[in-house]
Amino acid sequence: MDAPSPAPADLTELLHQRGQRATPQRLVILRELRHRAHHVTADQIRTAVAQELPGMSAPTVYATLDLLVELGLARRVDAGPGAALYDARAEPHHHVVCRRCGRIDDLDGDVDTAGLRHTAERQGFVPHSVEVVITGLCPGCAPGSG
Ligand SMILES: [Zn+2]
Ligand SMILES: [Zn+2]
Repeated sequence: MDAPSPAPADLTELLHQRGQRATPQRLVILRELRHRAHHVTADQIRTAVAQELPGMSAPTVYATLDLLVELGLARRVDAGPGAALYDARAEPHHHVVCRRCGRIDDLDGDVDTAGLRHTAERQGFVPHSVEVVITGLCPGCAPGSG
């Protein structure tokens, strides 16, 4: 048996500030999210932690992931139809999404979003972040490959 890994200090601290406890579910789910490659569904997380946290319900997993998003420790990526994906990379970044197989990858690069923000503000909207999702075909699905 491995000893439980120490609680991530940032999670413990953030929960403490809100008067909430760092429960085993929260710690294990955050650890799993960080340990995995980017972009997993709640179901994938649930499967991965099933042995460690037997009997944890899907709603608990969703609620915990949403709490991590709220705390700024993860992002929720809405990339069109299908289950929402969770991303342990918390800082704003862009994505490319394959319409055929659903593959999603990070897209690094500068986007000049000032104009868009400005337009949103003119519409009375208060922008928090701007994230770009490019949809199309991944290298494996694009015509001419494989
Ligand atoms: Zn694809
Ligand atoms: Zn990402």
